[in-house]
Amino acid sequence: MLSAVLASPRQIQLRPVALPEPQPGQVRIRIDGCGVCGSDLPVWLGRPWFDYPRAPGAPGHEAWGTIDAVGAESGGLQVGDPVVCLTYRSYAEFDLADASTVVALPAGLTGAAFPGEPLACAMNIMRRSGIERDSTVAVVGIGFLGSLLTRLACARGAHVIAIGRRASSLELAQSAGAEPLLARGDDLPHRVNMLTHGQLCDVVIEAAGAQATLDLAAQLVRVRGRLVIAGYHQDGPRSVDMQQWNWNGIDVINAHERDLAAYHTGLELAVREVAAGRLDPGPLFTHEFGLDELSGAFRALEQHPDGFIKALVRC
Ligand SMILES: [Zn+2]
Repeated sequence: MLSAVLASPRQIQLRPVALPEPQPGQVRIRIDGCGVCGSDLPVWLGRPWFDYPRAPGAPGHEAWGTIDAVGAESGGLQVGDPVVCLTYRSYAEFDLADASTVVALPAGLTGAAFPGEPLACAMNIMRRSGIERDSTVAVVGIGFLGSLLTRLACARGAHVIAIGRRASSLELAQSAGAEPLLARGDDLPHRVNMLTHGQLCDVVIEAAGAQATLDLAAQLVRVRGRLVIAGYHQDGPRSVDMQQWNWNGIDVINAHERDLAAYHTGLELAVREVAAGRLDPGPLFTHEFGLDELSGAFRALEQHPDGFIKALVRC
């Protein structure tokens, strides 16, 4: 089988590697495709805390495909089942998954792109967000995750303000029912204050993973409101305005999930939402590449060409 190997920063090679055999409790999946995640960018760029070469297929973790072989005790999963899964070496033709992380795709979703991990993430963030019908919500950062959360919050009947730097992403957020707000200049708290008639937001979701967006998000939460940190803050410590957090008595939720059982629940919820037509991520899959074009997918992620939201790799 062929697997993509990140040999050194910005250098990807397709290499033949041995087809892995599923161990007890595992299945082997013929990968149809894999999402290219914003959280993969630091390893592509060569941040100093990574070493190289990376394992074959890493850091692909947003795969979907078809079960191709099953190990013992794999919980009734069968060869030929279309599935979505949480795996870690999925920039490859095949990958192994623990059966406990695999969710079957219903007939209506076979053949459709289904990068499961970020969809599960979005469902889990929503579960912890406290967003209700008529909640006033701001989403700060309208990349793929922010776009998904905007759609889910709109579908829940919330009033959603989508704050981002790119007009193309905001147009999609607007088409999902959100109020678009272009992040230019430093008067955003004032503009949100005006939009919410001086109330600010019940819930603010920070979905960009940067100090500046964390600072902005905290300024938009009303007294006793909720700040939900969905962005992936992976490049060192952050500072927070504890005086402001404290004075306003806000609830702060770190909505990243590390618990595999919770991930599995998130995946099941995502499959259910998309299958029922309550969530359509399709318009957000803006760029597609072959496995042999993975470098191009990373460059698109890095450069964000006009209209870019999410790249998929077809394996
Ligand atoms: Zn991801």
